[in-house]
Amino acid sequence: MEKFDLMTLPYASEALEPIISRETIGFHHGKHLQAYVNNLNAAIAGTPFESKTLEEIVLTAEGGMLNNAGQILNHNLYFGQFMAPKEDNKPTGALAETINAQFGSFEQFQEDFVKKGVGLFGSGWVWLSAAEDGRLVITQEPNAANPIQKGLIPLLTFDVWEHAYYLDYQNRRPDHLKALWSIINWEEVASRYEK
Ligand code: MN
Repeated sequence: MEKFDLMTLPYASEALEPIISRETIGFHHGKHLQAYVNNLNAAIAGTPFESKTLEEIVLTAEGGMLNNAGQILNHNLYFGQFMAPKEDNKPTGALAETINAQFGSFEQFQEDFVKKGVGLFGSGWVWLSAAEDGRLVITQEPNAANPIQKGLIPLLTFDVWEHAYYLDYQNRRPDHLKALWSIINWEEVASRYEK
């Protein structure tokens, strides 16, 4: 039996349209993420990593094993936790208060976050994370990196690899990132911050 499985989407493949099309989901989840899962299962077979969790592999592995595990962890959060077919949600509770205190307003936070995503050269992810003292940080992580490698708690991420948006937005990464705000599961993001 394979150790890691392709995660099941908690919504229909057309549920995030028009921001993320069924076609993009088909390639992104069905092909790209499946390939990372296959690659990782092949890489860990017969090694001590077979008994580790995804997070443990990301924190201890190197090379291709690290990259594939990182991509699975990142996509599981992105597809499974952070995206939802909801309209124009906003952060609530302690998260909303900290966003306002640190960034001035939710709109300013959105602008800063998108700017970091747009400014990330090449492939990677832009993240909102919490530091141990509760402070929020926006980081650019190249390729398959995850903020847990920096001791941060991941709260939200936008995938800025071209495979995430090219079919729907071609080269217009800024337009794609701005559009993502209307399909964010803020309930989940806010509850991760409360913990
Ligand atoms: Mn991706």
